Amino acid sequence: MKRLILSGEPAGSIPATKRLIEQEWGAKAADTAGMTEVGTIMVFECEKQPGGTHIIEDHYIEEVVDPQTGRPVGYGELGERLITSFGRGFIPVLRYRTRDLVVRVPASGCTCGRTFDLYEGGIRGRVDDMKLVRGTNVYPRAVESIVREFEEIDEFRIHLYTAEGRQDEIEVLVEIPERDGASADRIIAELGKALSQAHEGLRFGVKKVENGSLPRFELKAKRLQDDRIVIGTAGERRVTA
Ligand SMILES: [Zn+2]
Repeated sequence: MKRLILSGEPAGSIPATKRLIEQEWGAKAADTAGMTEVGTIMVFECEKQPGGTHIIEDHYIEEVVDPQTGRPVGYGELGERLITSFGRGFIPVLRYRTRDLVVRVPASGCTCGRTFDLYEGGIRGRVDDMKLVRGTNVYPRAVESIVREFEEIDEFRIHLYTAEGRQDEIEVLVEIPERDGASADRIIAELGKALSQAHEGLRFGVKKVENGSLPRFELKAKRLQDDRIVIGTAGERRVTA
């Protein structure tokens, strides 16, 4: 195994996850992303591994806009990808809203010499993935990128719930195999602090769960469970997403 071409998951552009995959396989990994609507891949990571994916600009016009207003955002700003495909005979799409979140940076961000701009960090997540927890935006992918900095953590799950029927809470359940109690406690404390710092001080509960108790995924990992209660005009209902 020399090369791994990763797609369909954010893992290929999350540094710690990618490192782990490369170590386990003993091969160089590169990220790509594609969409059924345009027939094939639209971005790829070159062998310089600049921490982002080049846009295949001779096949697609890619724009980045504010998902709320639809106005263009500049280099270095998070926004939604809008694509227009040409050179592909599958389904012609014009300024198609992908719901993918990206940060576009100039081609000079890579040393390979290509003139195609980059999406720094690949596809950062989906507009629909965002969860609002006590006024703070939380993206599962951002949480994953922090959790994966802790090599001791094997599997994890993000859990949203409503405490005492009122306040939204967020917790991260982690499996930490073969650790003594003291070092597991240290990992839990450090992770809780790192998550909070990256989310405007939002309090995250971190809980150790039994090894092997969390689900494992083979395709399209879904590590967020939303059990919050939403009070609507039709009364109380429980959301599970
Ligand atoms: Zn490059």
